[in-house]
Amino acid sequence: MADTENLRDSLLFKRKNGYETVSGAEVAEIGEYCEGYKLYLDRGKTEREAAAAAAVMAQAKGFVPFKRGMALKAGDRVFALNHNRAFVAAVIGEESMDNGALIAASHIDSPRLDLKPYPLYEEADMAYFKTHYYGGIRKYQWVTIPLEIHGVVIKKDGETVEVNFGGRDDEPVLVINDLLPHLGRDQGAKPLATAFTGESLNVLVGGMPYNDDGSDKVKLAVMSLLNEKYDICEEDFLSAELSLVPAGKARDVGFDASFIGAYGQDDRVCAYTTLTALLEMTETPKRTCVCILADKEEIGSEGIAGMQSEWYDTFIADLCEATGASLRACYESSACLSADVGAAFDPNFAEVYEKKNSAVVNGGAILMKYTGSGGKGGSNDANPEYIAAIRKSFDENGVLWQMGELGKVDQGGGGTVAKYMAQRNIDTVDIGVPVLSMHAPFEVTAKLDVYMMYKAAKAFFALEK
Ligand code: MN
Ligand code: MN
Repeated sequence: MADTENLRDSLLFKRKNGYETVSGAEVAEIGEYCEGYKLYLDRGKTEREAAAAAAVMAQAKGFVPFKRGMALKAGDRVFALNHNRAFVAAVIGEESMDNGALIAASHIDSPRLDLKPYPLYEEADMAYFKTHYYGGIRKYQWVTIPLEIHGVVIKKDGETVEVNFGGRDDEPVLVINDLLPHLGRDQGAKPLATAFTGESLNVLVGGMPYNDDGSDKVKLAVMSLLNEKYDICEEDFLSAELSLVPAGKARDVGFDASFIGAYGQDDRVCAYTTLTALLEMTETPKRTCVCILADKEEIGSEGIAGMQSEWYDTFIADLCEATGASLRACYESSACLSADVGAAFDPNFAEVYEKKNSAVVNGGAILMKYTGSGGKGGSNDANPEYIAAIRKSFDENGVLWQMGELGKVDQGGGGTVAKYMAQRNIDTVDIGVPVLSMHAPFEVTAKLDVYMMYKAAKAFFALEK
């Protein structure tokens, strides 16, 4: 009997709940760490805000803005903003960059509703904004919830007007209305995916008419309020980037406060954890460490600030040049954590998960060998040699981690920036925090997993060749 038990222990893998593996002191540390994370979520509800908040944090830790031509030596700490919407920071290592860099790449854009170029109109004595959703949203989740509006208006003369409205207790919020159940018979009979259309996601923004004769009096009144507050006219929407995001702050969830509920945790949870792991580095690392907070992941990593952009190659090439290394040699020996959230097993929807290979909350950071859909389509599919090296490093550094797939093989799927890093000839694996209600206005993570992602990033930045 005892022999069988030994055999079981030595041969079979046993899943543990994270709280069985951490000390009381670590539980306190987890809670404290997550307070900082919640503040970061509140400060960055768009990629621009999240990038700016990262820059403030970096400067507070002695990082300086990188300029091409700057001489760099081991221990130097630099950062750069990509068109004010993505962020990169690096700590120069002792070894030549020809020995590779350790790159953690996450994203700071999240699904939301963007304003159309001609957003403002009036109907039935109410003023509305037309929206065009960004990323994969479930439309029914965005009606009848309070919304804030964030973004920038760039006026013709180049002046930037920052908009951040609806977040303060004394400010009104905006909202998209839904049908009353009494008249919802036809809508209720429609499939979930078609019951709400993109064109029906119109935001209520006002109802008080301008005191005058003529048409569109409510629209005029709203525009005149916006003019007073932001000094803009309707035409200025043409060069604006304004987004509707869920109102409210990040909150603890559960009687035990062991979860965090907030908008935009995909993927600001990996942004915050990898960033703090880099910023808090006190000793000069052996290899150069880089933290990328990219934009546009939710729409395919496109555009100048998406992970496919050469902006990132230019930045790392500049670092190589400043330290006398070559980009090709650097990439060839580099390693990357594609840091992005994964799906947590949800017992309410057990039918879409394959339980044996699903990540669970409080199971720690999730390593994902592959993502994609329809037979790993569009996936990076990490090399097992690389996974073995990561596995060793995590185990040696007390990182609680698990392997996970998104869901059942034929149920759907998703992608991350991993494949774009691998295309650069960089060994890459996906890692993230398990999330419940991913892409919803209020996503849920477990504090222990957030903290373990931070520990995973710290271990990664010490990875030896
Ligand atoms: Mn993501
Ligand atoms: Mn996503």
